Amino acid sequence: MKTETIRVKTSQKTELIDITDDIRKKIQSAGFRSGIVMVYVPHTTSAVTINESADPDVGKDILMILDQLVPQRAGYRHAEGNSAAHVKASLTGQSILFGVEDGKPVLGTWQAIFFCEFDGPRSRRVDINFIAGSGQK
Ligand code: ZN
Repeated sequence: MKTETIRVKTSQKTELIDITDDIRKKIQSAGFRSGIVMVYVPHTTSAVTINESADPDVGKDILMILDQLVPQRAGYRHAEGNSAAHVKASLTGQSILFGVEDGKPVLGTWQAIFFCEFDGPRSRRVDINFIAGSGQK
């Protein structure tokens, strides 16, 4: 399985960053024409999700509701003090899958791929795994 990596530098405590173009470029440079791509975040306080990018308020709403669901302080035991970020990361998830056809991600009109920072600012890594399919270099 071929893997590419992109680096994401976050600047806020919590934020959603659209990484669709970075992933699109990696698919092209890998020569991957057709198959499945898994985007995987190897961190415990960040995540990845697919959602709407046309209206940036959608991402803000997602972060707002996660804040309401997962309070900053709730009698957590984890001594590092970032349990809310760990819980948000597990709720959101560490990987997404999507299809690739003719070297392009198969996404809906309004869909984009977002890196989700829950304990920034940090320097993060995102792995792009090219699975099965055809036309790999
Ligand atoms: Zn921690």
